[in-house]
Amino acid sequence: MILHERNVYGDCGDAARLEAQVRADLQADGNALQAADSIAGDGGAGDDGAGDGVAGDGGAGDDGAGRWSVEAWRLTAVPERMRGGRAAAEAVLRAVDPEGYARSRNFLDGRVTGLSPYLRHGVLALGEVRDAALAAAGAGAEKLVQELAWREYWQRVYVALDGAVGADLEADKTGVVARARELPEDVREARTGLRCMDAWSGQLQRSGYLHNHARMWMAAYLVHWRRVRWQAGAAWFREHLLDGDAASNDLSWQWVASTFGSKPYFFNRENLERYAGGRFCEGCALARRGCPIEGSYEELAGRLFGAGAETAAGMATQSGDGRWPAGRLRRVKGAAAADKPVRRPLIWVHAGSLNPKQEALRRYPEAPVVFVWDGEWLERDRVSAKRLAFVAECLREMPERMWIARVERGGLAELLRGLCGRLGADGVVAQETAEAVVRMRGEPVGWMREPRFCDGTEELGELDLRRFSRFWQRVQRQAMQSSGYNR
Ligand SMILES: Cc1cc2nc3c(=O)[nH]c(=O)nc-3n(C[C@H](O)[C@H](O)[C@H](O)COP(=O)(O)OP(=O)(O)OC[C@H]3O[C@@H](n4cnc5c(N)ncnc54)[C@H](O)[C@@H]3O)c2cc1C
Repeated sequence: MILHERNVYGDCGDAARLEAQVRADLQADGNALQAADSIAGDGGAGDDGAGDGVAGDGGAGDDGAGRWSVEAWRLTAVPERMRGGRAAAEAVLRAVDPEGYARSRNFLDGRVTGLSPYLRHGVLALGEVRDAALAAAGAGAEKLVQELAWREYWQRVYVALDGAVGADLEADKTGVVARARELPEDVREARTGLRCMDAWSGQLQRSGYLHNHARMWMAAYLVHWRRVRWQAGAAWFREHLLDGDAASNDLSWQWVASTFGSKPYFFNRENLERYAGGRFCEGCALARRGCPIEGSYEELAGRLFGAGAETAAGMATQSGDGRWPAGRLRRVKGAAAADKPVRRPLIWVHAGSLNPKQEALRRYPEAPVVFVWDGEWLERDRVSAKRLAFVAECLREMPERMWIARVERGGLAELLRGLCGRLGADGVVAQETAEAVVRMRGEPVGWMREPRFCDGTEELGELDLRRFSRFWQRVQRQAMQSSGYNR
């Protein structure tokens, strides 16, 4: 359904009005998009991060003193409340320090960039960030470029698998058979007793950001110590992360779990203390006795996987041999989608293309534009209110002529076709992202691909996507070259 024939978010000067508008739009026809119910209380547009708890009403885990998140945030360089929009993104990009990043990225207080929500929503392009990093540091930007390549890699795997990343891609190599299907309540409520995990649970739910190392530790804790199916943790992360992304998130969880990697990822207390500065252990009730992550790697492997560790080694040789879905990643063509030449386009702005300076808008300044609140995405990821607020802040900067619509699960292509007819357009044009390509599979779309992080076809030829190392080996030279992209 069409909600507005112009971009009403642009008129919402303050956060409270923006929030009220989004809430009204997502509840417009009584549809059960519950996420909108809790925008204000969930660190949303009206919340500048000064509140105490995630639930906004002193929910479990919040002892009124801000126990959830305070410790975690003091350790990270990223601000607690990340603002949506291109202006905010450009400010974050200007502050990137590629050489500092290379030296310190594994530490919780290291010089990580905080760029992921902007990259995930297409406010910044991966190639653009790479270009900025090369301009700032030349060869000294390689570590950052390599991390950006992880994002590119997961996106390509996602397209090659047609978005089917929710089931194990390879055998589980831990030997563990029985796993819980649900996220444990004590983890969600930040009362495991482990000060580190409780702090990150709060930080995740309140702010929507976690440092990469904290994500790895939390995922490993849930999958290996608590024996939870990785899918339960991945869904929880997607719900809360501002950068929540089916490709980067689910595939990272699979990597930790060993269902897309040759062995499980786990860690010990020494590793955590080193990169977290020891601060969580200091005041932790379990630090002296009963800390489950205390021990050498050998001891922990025995405790966590037992005899399964051996099975694991045997299974590793089977991965990617064609019997598992990951075998489909052996030889993949770079080009993802078929282009359709379009003369009178309808520009489709989606949740991965929230850049007001994007190529389609510049190339067709008179063309009609639409943004669609996509029920499939909102329901699948149970998109949290703080993320809706972030997206709405991005939308506020989009052109005034942009229409706003909403569809239920499965109705997107039909809505766009209908709009083309109504507005006299002969086709849809959109920024190419993995999620958009998979959603519009089989539909004719003119995809915009500027700027590319690395080429897909001619120079690189077929790619082996079974492991990142093989991918990086092939793309490294191209990825370290500027695309000359300059807005
Ligand atoms: C369990 C788990 C879940 C994750 N879920 C997501 C997710 O939903 N969305 C998401 O964008 N990233 C995800 N990541 C990857 C990574 O943790 C985040 O991209 C990164 O922490 C974001 O913070 P930053 O922008 O400060 O990163 P920086 O370290 O500053 O890196 C710069 C950029 O490089 C890319 N990048 C860096 N590391 C990775 C990586 N390992 N995989 C993919 N891209 C990377 C990101 O786009 C990031 O913004 C996940 C990692 C794990 C272990």
